Amino acid sequence: MHEPSHKSQNDKNAIVIGSGFGGLAAAIRLQAQGFQTEILELRDKPGGRAYVYHEQGFTFDAGPTVITVPQCLEELFELAGKKMSDYIELLEVQPFYRLFWEDGTIFNYSNKEDELLSQIGKRNPDDIKGYQNYLAYAEKVYVEGYEKLGQVPFLRFWDMVKATPQLVKLNAQRSVYSTISKYIKDDKTRQALSFNSLLIGGNPFEISSIYTLIHPLEKKFGVHFPKGGTHALIRAMVKVFEDIGGKIQCSTPVERIVTHAGQAIGVQVKDGFMPAKIVVSNADVHHTYTNLLRDEILVKRTRKAMEKKDYSMSLFVIYFGATKRFDNLSHHNIMFGERYKELLNDIFKTGELSDDFSIYLHAPSETDPSMAPEGHYAYYALAPVPNLKISSVNWAEEAPRYCERILTYLDEHYMPGIKDSIVVKKWFSPDDFATELNAVHGSAFSLTPTLQQSAYFRVHNRDDDIKGLYFVGAGTHPGAGIPGVVGSAKATCSVIASDYA
Ligand SMILES: Cc1cc2nc3c(=O)[nH]c(=O)nc-3n(C[C@H](O)[C@H](O)[C@H](O)COP(=O)(O)OP(=O)(O)OC[C@H]3O[C@@H](n4cnc5c(N)ncnc54)[C@H](O)[C@@H]3O)c2cc1C
Repeated sequence: MHEPSHKSQNDKNAIVIGSGFGGLAAAIRLQAQGFQTEILELRDKPGGRAYVYHEQGFTFDAGPTVITVPQCLEELFELAGKKMSDYIELLEVQPFYRLFWEDGTIFNYSNKEDELLSQIGKRNPDDIKGYQNYLAYAEKVYVEGYEKLGQVPFLRFWDMVKATPQLVKLNAQRSVYSTISKYIKDDKTRQALSFNSLLIGGNPFEISSIYTLIHPLEKKFGVHFPKGGTHALIRAMVKVFEDIGGKIQCSTPVERIVTHAGQAIGVQVKDGFMPAKIVVSNADVHHTYTNLLRDEILVKRTRKAMEKKDYSMSLFVIYFGATKRFDNLSHHNIMFGERYKELLNDIFKTGELSDDFSIYLHAPSETDPSMAPEGHYAYYALAPVPNLKISSVNWAEEAPRYCERILTYLDEHYMPGIKDSIVVKKWFSPDDFATELNAVHGSAFSLTPTLQQSAYFRVHNRDDDIKGLYFVGAGTHPGAGIPGVVGSAKATCSVIASDYA
């Protein structure tokens, strides 16, 4: 590390700030493209939202657990001249999700067409035809929205205008929920088909029907779980990156992106300046503009615009290990509360922490017993909550209460005796998203994926004003979720490849 001087840049070196799925995917691509690449990560372990806690023999994946489109990950290993299966084993998960309602209704959501249709038909026979028509619609959206546009950059407004007429014809500007309601009559089936928008930080009542593509995407590629947990996949990505010559430094927060005459020339860390030909930020987009580029006059307008944007909800997550297993549970469980639209309204709009909740319960020991010591089971319970921009909840006070309420709810409704069988527990609140991950407003999924904040209207994969500065991850096109951020790495690295051909 040495003093700033744009002359000191290596010929073709890249610094990636952050080691989330998007940062790792970009780093592997850049290293394979011939950039000597170094990742600088704030935390002591790589993975970002896909961090891991190891406590008393339990493995708790902190964030993503539903792995769809393994092909987009395989592609990264192939670019490095390797085979993913030599680094990590992916286990299939069935059903994809088990859905529960308080009146005792259970729905197994999977890609087994017969089972899906029979469950839908039992609720309302008319919905069988409705579902088939919905699927045909969503498959068209999938081709247009994911296959054609999911991994290409939108740097100019016209790129978007040229690319989207088919989506306009498909009325993709309507909300996910209203499109589903056009085809499906039963309320619970509507919820079953729309809740997965939440997995990328979108309110199904607001985000565009482009996200109906998630259903055919899951159907086509399945749902997988890496043996040893999601962080085993992160470690596999780090390993392949290092195997082809990449470097990663954890516990190394970037303090500033350094520019010279409108060009990114490196980054400032605690120990000094690190020069780079290009800088790729995988850190939160708001944090990048307001902190890492705090003095940069060229991005003044963008910096200001960041505060006006809409940020996705936050999450409250409880990780717990216990001695009890429950036959009724599957690997991925969704427990719907009594209210759906109203609850989402509290979370996304009013900012109220409601008395009720809907919960995603992760029970990874169902697929991989190695996630817990013998005779024990690992779990995490996640409740979407308002972000810190729209709510004034004091999480330092509220967190223990909220944790207790969620565990009591689970004990009373779905996991009798769980509370007494817990041997280890910890939680992650919206405050932790903000302080541990530099996620401004504690948002779990960055910018909301509304039409006004998608494609060209999302943060561009290449900065408009500073040469050599690129973005990757949830805040850029196409958006959050593992396939999204890995797709953003492909889009970003294709721009870099053409800029430095
Ligand atoms: C609890 C939870 C569950 C989820 N479940 C799923 C799921 O099942 N399936 C799915 O597909 N998606 C899921 N998601 C969404 C998915 O995890 C994210 O969209 C995705 O992992 C984000 O990746 P990213 O590349 O944007 O980087 P992030 O994971 O956001 O990583 C950014 C990195 O940048 C680092 N950083 C920040 N500031 C600095 C700095 N100044 N210097 C150095 N480093 C810095 C951070 O420490 C972090 O490591 C979930 C998200 C959460 C929170």
